[in-house]
Amino acid sequence: MAGAVRRVLGGTRGAGSGRSGTDILAGMQCPSCRADDSKVVDSRVAEEGTAIRRRRQCLTCSHRFTTFERVDHAPLTVVKSSEEREPFDRSKVITGLVAATKGRDVELGVLDQIATRVEDAVRLKGNEVTSAVVGLTVLDELRPVDEVAYLRFASVYKHFDAAADFHRELELLEKSPPG
Ligand SMILES: [Zn+2]
Repeated sequence: MAGAVRRVLGGTRGAGSGRSGTDILAGMQCPSCRADDSKVVDSRVAEEGTAIRRRRQCLTCSHRFTTFERVDHAPLTVVKSSEEREPFDRSKVITGLVAATKGRDVELGVLDQIATRVEDAVRLKGNEVTSAVVGLTVLDELRPVDEVAYLRFASVYKHFDAAADFHRELELLEKSPPG
């Protein structure tokens, strides 16, 4: 059960006893009276950790309302070797990882963490990334987890996406066994 991550208002202070700066969000307009100042009365993790839900109270009319804060993901496009473009799909990364680790002792939770790290890493490269880069990033993350799965993923990946850069990178990786 996700409890309150942070009580913004202390329990010892009376309601409306002043503005501390941390519990005021200027510019968040009250939906009832349109005043600009509200205080946060409760703050919780929501949507499985991807959002923060804040319960606010208007300082003018005491109306209570809820706001959500989420990471604003810009669209991430994957450019395939065929020049085709498609939106990045985290579930495809998971599917590839599941296939590569079949029969291996790797938990789904670990694959989920790999997919998250891959997504984070490729997003840092910009809004458009080649499928070769996605594949290489998966390989980088998979290698320390399971060498067999790494080699399987490499062979499947090579089959489906014969980007020249990928071949070169793969050769480099094969020449440097993990220490
Ligand atoms: Zn109000």
